Amino acid sequence: MKKIAGIVAVVVLIVIAGLIFKKNMNPPVQSVQSSVFVDTRANKIFYLAIPLGTEMRYPLQSPLSGGDAYPAYKCTKDGTVFAVKNTGVSPKCPVCGSTEAVAPEIPAGQTEMDIQGPVTITE
Ligand SMILES: [Zn+2]
Repeated sequence: MKKIAGIVAVVVLIVIAGLIFKKNMNPPVQSVQSSVFVDTRANKIFYLAIPLGTEMRYPLQSPLSGGDAYPAYKCTKDGTVFAVKNTGVSPKCPVCGSTEAVAPEIPAGQTEMDIQGPVTITE
């Protein structure tokens, strides 16, 4: 009897482990993409989840201040954070002219961050 109980316990553990594993292997289908935007009124950058397939028109209305918000980029050369109005073109730093720009990073655990303004809005 004791042996059977042991086997049952092992089987239960395997099933539980299997369920946990399966859960981790199949992440929920992503229906939103999170992007970094800049609020040009509040001088903040923030994450905003956008449903995939949404046709974006800029400026967005910032959920922080109600002001204009645009996709945010940060120059990798001088650290300038700037807004891009037309996402169909390569972002270009308004200070040094570099096209090496990336999405700015917001510290882990935060959804928004103050930046130095005024923010330049590039076409
Ligand atoms: Zn630059």
